[in-house]
Amino acid sequence: MAMEGPARRRIQVAEHPRLLKLKEIFNSKFGSIPKFYVRAPGRVNIIEQDMLIAVEPVKTHTLQLANTNPLYPDFSTSANNIQIDRTNPLWHNYFLCGFKGIQEHFGLSNLTGMNCLVDGNIPPSSGLSSSSALVCCAGLVTLTVLGMNLSKVELAEICAKSERYIGTEGGGMDQSISFLAEEGTAKLIEFSPLRATDVKLPSGAVFVIANSCVEMNKAATSHFNVRVMECRLAAKLLAKYKSLQWDKVLRLEEVQTELGISLEEMLLVTEDALHSEPYSPEEICKCLGISLEELRTQILSPNTQDVLIFKLYQRAKHVYSEAARVLQFKKICEEAPDNIVQLLGELMNQSHKSCRDMYECSCPELDQLVDICRKFGAPGSRLTGAGWGGCTVSIVPADKLPSFLANVQEAYYQRSNRSLAPEKQSLFVTKPGGGALVFLEA
Ligand code: ADP
Ligand code: MG
Repeated sequence: MAMEGPARRRIQVAEHPRLLKLKEIFNSKFGSIPKFYVRAPGRVNIIEQDMLIAVEPVKTHTLQLANTNPLYPDFSTSANNIQIDRTNPLWHNYFLCGFKGIQEHFGLSNLTGMNCLVDGNIPPSSGLSSSSALVCCAGLVTLTVLGMNLSKVELAEICAKSERYIGTEGGGMDQSISFLAEEGTAKLIEFSPLRATDVKLPSGAVFVIANSCVEMNKAATSHFNVRVMECRLAAKLLAKYKSLQWDKVLRLEEVQTELGISLEEMLLVTEDALHSEPYSPEEICKCLGISLEELRTQILSPNTQDVLIFKLYQRAKHVYSEAARVLQFKKICEEAPDNIVQLLGELMNQSHKSCRDMYECSCPELDQLVDICRKFGAPGSRLTGAGWGGCTVSIVPADKLPSFLANVQEAYYQRSNRSLAPEKQSLFVTKPGGGALVFLEA
């Protein structure tokens, strides 16, 4: 149930190799034993891959962070003076987002310190939301140290908001699934109010993640935020066109909800209201009756103020059509017709096409990987996550899985000499796993 808090489980650490290793490294690093552990998954339902943090509350007001991966250097700060650096999003800033989110929610200024050792194995900057897993894990760590309780929904909302401290204007999907995921079922995530509904995936098929091996950090580049701003501006222009109070509107979905019409009707409104030629900042200002200065300071995010071209029509078409596809996907899963795998695959293909052509968040490597996956037996394949690199997800009939994996391995990874480092987990089957939880040593 959504109102419940994250689960707490008593476990024998000695029986779990990864926890045991973490406990040992923690001991050599801090000279003590963790009091508890928190895990939080990324997206696309990955059981084996998550963010794991070993924690020990301390009496001082110092927050000490260490990481099992030497790529991520140790960090220490006063718990009372959290500074998040959005100009240089080093790893510890993601932890601080979750920490600060909880701190602010309870209006606390004087937090107890803690020692934390982070161990994550989600491929970073690959669209599987390693960032949100870290933010959510840190949020739950902080909540547990404080001895407070919050529901999964509240935690998801706090962490969605606080990840924006890093500078990315994310929506909240990744944080929601990190807390609300349940083993054995996919989830449809909806907002206002935040809720998650079970979606039963077809039994005869599996979902395969393949990493394009192109990394894109969402906070270090502006691509992601430019799209968010284009959607925001499109929402405002659509609202104005329909004589709604446009200045309060931030998201395309709000316009649809306000008008009380279907996604299909919203697509028609988009056709009428917006033109396919890109908009200049000047034209947008003219449409909304505001100055360039107001556009920059009151609407755009800090890293998108100098953008000169906004493709509002294309972005709105993508968002409304993608939302319609999500609902169609759920409906097909419920009706479970004989050709279900084919139909779901077709939707995934349409999705990829729209991401590539209308939202322009794909890249040549992702397009190539999607083609290869389809060629070797996936009825559907698409990029997943924010895009511009990262992973694809493909639906594959279970009986075709072995040949699919072997052929994709050969065609994408071997032939092109791409990194095959095992820790990148370039190609794997995913099953819906559970959400964030706390482990206490039995
Ligand atoms: P993603 O698609 O994985 O969410 P982002 O670009 O949003 O990609 O965030 C990636 C960032 O998250 C990395 O640059 C790093 O700072 C942080 N991160 C990911 N995995 C870890 C980890 N195991 N330990 C510490 N930080 C991590
Ligand atoms: Mg991210």
